[in-house]
Amino acid sequence: MRILITGVAGFLGSHLADALLAEGNSIIGVDNLCTGSLANLRHLEHESRFEFREVDICKPFDPGAVDYVFNFASPASPVDYHRLGVETLDVGSNGTRNALEVAKKYSAKFLHASTSECYGDPSVHPQTEDYWGNVNPVGPRSVYDEAKRFSEALTTAYNRYYNVDTRLVRIFNTYGPRLQKNDGRVISNFVVQALKGEDLTVYGEGNQTRSFCYVADEIAGILGLSRSDEHTPVNIGNPHEWTILECAKAVLKVTGSKSKVIYQPLPQDDPMQRKPDISKAQRLFGWEPKIDLETGLKLSLEYFQSTIDQEAAKA
Ligand code: NAD
Ligand code: UDP
Repeated sequence: MRILITGVAGFLGSHLADALLAEGNSIIGVDNLCTGSLANLRHLEHESRFEFREVDICKPFDPGAVDYVFNFASPASPVDYHRLGVETLDVGSNGTRNALEVAKKYSAKFLHASTSECYGDPSVHPQTEDYWGNVNPVGPRSVYDEAKRFSEALTTAYNRYYNVDTRLVRIFNTYGPRLQKNDGRVISNFVVQALKGEDLTVYGEGNQTRSFCYVADEIAGILGLSRSDEHTPVNIGNPHEWTILECAKAVLKVTGSKSKVIYQPLPQDDPMQRKPDISKAQRLFGWEPKIDLETGLKLSLEYFQSTIDQEAAKA
């Protein structure tokens, strides 16, 4: 297949490219590099089945005939989407529409990277796909949450009205190598702080929960969904739930760091709990994650250490 990946220079987009290349496909990857980095694609420099184009998908674009579109372009960490608020709304509306137009033009299949953030601060726990969510439409996270919810509505409309063969994956917190070390997400912050011997910054009392999925598991789930015929949203995430304080302690254990935990204010509208119900993915395509948090953290340490070393060498 010839496959389009938008957001290919990002954390998940670059891992997806690796997995699809390993299966023998050709990839045309586009990215405007607003949060991603060409360093994530450097290992593909001499790969003849991989082509990169610097493209802002908010403007119409034509990559040529493709069989599948994976739409992953969007700022994703709270720090990034707060900095790029209007751009995030733009890519989740005009960007998604332009990617859907490519799929429509070439009769390609389409998979959109949605998010657990569609559930907002959920009152149903664990989150099942039929829960409609609890989102503040004007709060600081709304630029991301509402863009993602609009993308889901638009993707569904292209399926309903234009018969585009679409899929929606609701991705829960995912981590691993190539996560930007300074994007403010909890795993990158804690691991970098622990490795540098700095205090670990827990927001609030650290009793809010998240469920962390290692990137290889997440990509396997996304590929499973891409081959299914399911058009409604499917959760892909690790159902093991951690408080943020437990997560900090796990990072200290795995790194052997002597860093202390310090407490900082909880950001506004920070969801109190998050845990995917993955029974739909299990039933539809037999997927479940295999890698627990401590193992996944160990697999990520070398990457984070090397980014710290590179920064130190530049200074
Ligand atoms: P990332 O920031 O590493 O990657 C996103 C990529 O999209 C970047 O390379 C960025 O430059 C690119 N991009 C943004 N706007 C663009 C535009 N207008 N045109 C072209 N490229 C553009 O983030 P990620 O963690 O890899 O997330 C990838 C996708 O998965 C996002 O859609 C995100 O919302 C979704 N997601 C990720 C997680 C997670 O835990 N990592 C959780 C839920 C959803
Ligand atoms: N968090 C934290 N310290 C940090 C970064 C994040 O305590 O240095 C918390 C944050 O308040 C949230 C959780 O960790 O409750 C996950 O935050 P992240 O930004 O990774 O993603 P979110 O799931 O909130 O989109």
